[in-house]
Amino acid sequence: MIRKPFIAGNWKMNMTAESGAKLIKELAPLVANANCDVALCVPAILIPAMTEAAKGTNIAIGAENVHWAESGAYTGEISCAQLKEYGVKYAIIGHSERRQYFGETDEGVNKRTLAALANGITPIVCVGETLAEREGGVTEKVLDKQLADGLKGVEDVAKVVIAYEPVWASGTGRTATDAQAQETIAYIRKKIGQLFCPKCAEKVIIQYGGSMNAGNCKGLMAQPDIDGGLIGGASLKLDFATIVNFDK
Ligand code: PEP
Repeated sequence: MIRKPFIAGNWKMNMTAESGAKLIKELAPLVANANCDVALCVPAILIPAMTEAAKGTNIAIGAENVHWAESGAYTGEISCAQLKEYGVKYAIIGHSERRQYFGETDEGVNKRTLAALANGITPIVCVGETLAEREGGVTEKVLDKQLADGLKGVEDVAKVVIAYEPVWASGTGRTATDAQAQETIAYIRKKIGQLFCPKCAEKVIIQYGGSMNAGNCKGLMAQPDIDGGLIGGASLKLDFATIVNFDK
């Protein structure tokens, strides 16, 4: 099964309209011949300006979250329709920072995921264990729950992108080894096979996220089950282009 690699940036709460547009203009020629899909998920307020900056390039603009309701009294949230107005193709859902600092649950992740799929937005569903969970030997149990509850009711799991982001490696400068990332992502694929069907699992793009950078991307991307990366810090600079061009 050939899965097209997918490298996505997650700007988190960084950049301004000016610095973001400048970075996209500089990145565009560097990633123009990429052999993978490329996206930058940006703060909601920057979506219109970054969409404009990325026009005519192969950089798709994504959101960092999306709400499940069509509209209504959900102060601070953004709907699928609002994202689609700007041609947004992807939305990160259930990032560990949303889970940790904003109380997001697997149930909410599930509602957001189903809404995104119903609206033709590809959800990038983040899963991953904390350091205590890894050291406590419950990584698989944690992933089982995040996957089963987060993906409940999904009809075509091949339309979902999964980002495996061990919490201990995200934004910490500490990366999983190639072997650790491969082993856990292979487990995630096996679990998706059990929850849906093995053939469907072969089609799912599974990214690794957690301090992936220009130096370690080649080794991670060479692993058979790692189909891409969700890149935090390194997506704020031209290093992102080196990661996108991991195969060159
Ligand atoms: C992230 O939190 O999505 C992430 C991968 O961050 P970093 O690359 O900075 O670890």
